[in-house]
Amino acid sequence: MSTKKDLFVLIPKVDDLLNDEKIKDLLEKVPRIMIVEAIRESIEEIRIKIVQLDNQQVKSFKIDYEALIEKIIRIIKQKNRMNLSKVINTTGVVLHTNLGRALLSESIKEEIWNVANSYSTLEFDVDSGKRGSRYAHVEEIITKLTGAESALVVNNNAAAVLLVLDTLAKNREVIVSRGQLVEIGGSFRVPDVMQQSGAKLVEVGTTNKTHISDYERAITEDTAALLKVHTSNYKILGFTQEVSLKDLVEIGREHNIPVIEDIGSGTFIDFSKFGLYKEPTVQESVAMKADIVTFSGDKLLGGPQAGIIIGKKEYIEKMKKNPYTRAFRVDKLTLAALEATLRLYLDEESALEKIPTLRMLTISLEEIEKKANALYALLKENIKHCTIEKIKGFSQVGGGSMPLEKIPTMLISIKPENLSINKFEQMLRDYNPPIIARISEERILMDVRTIKENEFEIIVAGIDKLLKK
Ligand SMILES: *Cc1c(COP(=O)(O)O)cnc(C)c1O
Repeated sequence: MSTKKDLFVLIPKVDDLLNDEKIKDLLEKVPRIMIVEAIRESIEEIRIKIVQLDNQQVKSFKIDYEALIEKIIRIIKQKNRMNLSKVINTTGVVLHTNLGRALLSESIKEEIWNVANSYSTLEFDVDSGKRGSRYAHVEEIITKLTGAESALVVNNNAAAVLLVLDTLAKNREVIVSRGQLVEIGGSFRVPDVMQQSGAKLVEVGTTNKTHISDYERAITEDTAALLKVHTSNYKILGFTQEVSLKDLVEIGREHNIPVIEDIGSGTFIDFSKFGLYKEPTVQESVAMKADIVTFSGDKLLGGPQAGIIIGKKEYIEKMKKNPYTRAFRVDKLTLAALEATLRLYLDEESALEKIPTLRMLTISLEEIEKKANALYALLKENIKHCTIEKIKGFSQVGGGSMPLEKIPTMLISIKPENLSINKFEQMLRDYNPPIIARISEERILMDVRTIKENEFEIIVAGIDKLLKK
C-alpha cells in the first residue's frame, strides 16, 4: 500500500527527464532553459495533484510516464512559439485593431527586408555623401499623391495630432465643434489630446449642430487654429449640421487662422465607387485648402502604423523642429513599408489589387462567393460530425472606419455535433496558428472576406485535428 510519500518518490527527476530520448531530440532546437522550465512545471503539477488526493485515491494513483513526456513536449512547443505571431482572422472585420489592423502587401516584402537586413540610406544622402533626412524618402511621394506642399511622418495619428497642436497652438486657443469631441478606440480622446498639447480647447455649437457663426463668434486674439475632426467611428443622424471644411477654410482665411483637419482614416481611394460609404479622401482635403491634414497609415491607407501630416510648408518646417518629432520618430522598417505601400498607389489598379485592405474591401460579391464555395467544399469533404453551411452575412470595415457600413458577404457556419460551441471556439483559438472566429446562434461563423486562400487548408486541417482529439 502506497502513501503520498511513496508517490512523491516516484515522480521522475528533472535530470532523468532531460535524458529521455524524445526530450533530448528537442535540445537541438530549443534552449535548454526552456526545456528545464517545462519539465519543472509539469512535475510541479503532478506534485500538486498528489497533495490533493484523498486516502482512497492515493491507493490507485499512477504516474503515467508517457503522458508526462507528451505534456512536457506540448509545453515546450508552446513556450518556443513567438508571443507575437500570426493568427487567422475569420471575423470579417477588415481593419481589426486587436489583430493588427492593416496587413501589408505581399509585394513589398523585399523592400522591407532589404532595409532591415542591410545598412541603408536612412539618414544619408548618396549624392552629396552627407547626412540626409529620414523623412525625405516618403515626403516626395506623399506630396505627389496628395497634392500637398509638404509632409511629415510620425508613429501614429494620435502623435501626429499632438505634434500639430503643440507646434501651432501651445498655450493658445483651438476651436472645435462639440459634435467632434470624439473618442477613437485605444483611448484617443480629442479633449485629452488637446490638453496634453497645452492647447486650450474652445468648444462651439452643440452635439448635433454647429454653424459657421458659432466659429466666428468664438474667434479671439488668442485663437491659434480651427480644428475639424472627422467623426470616423460614429454618426449622428437626423437634425444635424456640421460646418464643411470648405467653409471652415474660408473662416480661417478671413481671420488669418490655420485650419487643421484630422481625417483619421486617410484614404486616397474614393470608396463610393465600390458601393461603399463615402469617406473623405486625403486629396479632397488638400484641394479644399486645409492648412494641415493628419491621418493614419494603417487604417484605410493599408500601410504600416504611422501618422502622416501634410500641409503648408511653413507649418511642417516648424513641426520638424519640435522635440516631439524626435520622440515620435518612425523607424526604418515603418518608412520602408510606407514608401513601398505608397508607391503602389501610383497606379490605382495596382494598389487595389495588391494592398490587402483595399482588396478585401473592394472584392466583388461574386468573388466572395467563389471563395466561400472553395472553403465550403474543402470542409464538406474532410470534416465529419459537423453541420456545415454557407450563409449570407455582413462584413465590417473596423478600425473605427465606416461604422455603419455592412458589406454583404458569405459566411461558413460550422456546428460540431459532440462539442459545446464555446469549447470549440476556444479550441480554435488555442490552435497553432490561432483561428479567430465568432459565435452566433450556437454556431461558429467564418467570414471568407478576411481569410486568405492559402489559409483554407490550415483551417480545414485544424478543425479535422481538433475534432479528432
Ligand atoms: C483612428 C483615429 C485617430 C488615431 O489614429 P492612430 O493612428 O490610431 O493613432 C485619430 N483621429 C481620428 C479621427 C481617428 O479616426
